[in-house]
Amino acid sequence: MIYNALKNSRAFKLFLNDVKKGLTHAYIISTTDEDILPDFFRLVACAIFCEKSDACLECSECKKIIDMVNPDVIEINLEKAKIKVDAIKDLVSSAVIKPVNGVHKLYYINCADLMTREAQNKLLKTLEEPPEGVTIFLGTANTSAILDTVKSRCRTVPIDRFDFETVYREMLELTGDENLSAIAASCSEGKLSQAAKIAINPDYIESFNLAIDMLLKVKRSSDILGFISSEGAKKEIERGLEQFLTVLSVLLRDVLILNFDDELILSKHVLSKIAPLKSDISVVAAGKCIFEINRARAKLKQNIPKEVVLERLLFTILEVKYRCR
Ligand SMILES: [Zn+2]
Repeated sequence: MIYNALKNSRAFKLFLNDVKKGLTHAYIISTTDEDILPDFFRLVACAIFCEKSDACLECSECKKIIDMVNPDVIEINLEKAKIKVDAIKDLVSSAVIKPVNGVHKLYYINCADLMTREAQNKLLKTLEEPPEGVTIFLGTANTSAILDTVKSRCRTVPIDRFDFETVYREMLELTGDENLSAIAASCSEGKLSQAAKIAINPDYIESFNLAIDMLLKVKRSSDILGFISSEGAKKEIERGLEQFLTVLSVLLRDVLILNFDDELILSKHVLSKIAPLKSDISVVAAGKCIFEINRARAKLKQNIPKEVVLERLLFTILEVKYRCR
């Protein structure tokens, strides 16, 4: 569970404040990391129902919410499907029924951007004037798909991206492994759910080491074929190459940053290994290589064979390194 980082987020503190002062009718919780939305909502629900204070996560009320058995906390669309108007009609008609226990009744619509236009329009009146005690939460990673009329009736609370240290600490708690946590944090783009997926996947350590090896050892075009036919590269090709390109991009970003400030690099756990690359890959070259990696990613989507994508990318990286010395 990733509740610690969520609890310390600015967004959660805003909610705590509202819980104390009185909740608004409706909220949009926005984030780039859609997979953390249900957990974040549950944390907010805990803050509202907690027997102690501020979402202790231990009392029986908090536990009911985490286990999703509180009948007054209703979560919709956890399966992330299209939300049709009928589902919203059901919500609207059930919202008038009084809470089973206490005074609060919460509705959470996951991936609310998947509501059809008709469904969003159906929700408008309830958003504006919900029955007493009802609060509606819309979670989304795509606010542009939410109608302005819906937005104007909600308070939008954005969850910021998490910094490296926060993600690292959270992953360390999850895995107990410093190396894995550092890799997960550095490849997560500030997204906790992405970090958690990486942290439980030991393949990432292999990919990371292979990418460092490639940058250190592939020095001329005659080295490329040897690298591509190596066991490690074959495995990456089998995995689909995405993961390898992600770690390669993180490493090159760090090589670039090494020129300015060691403190800002993400892959601190391998600083001694990547430090020598600074003399080999100039700032301009590193920037161009990252651009080329993104182009290679686009090629993967066009069904170009993965070996070919990798081979062309390595040739381009060598060329860029040479041209931009
Ligand atoms: Zn509690």
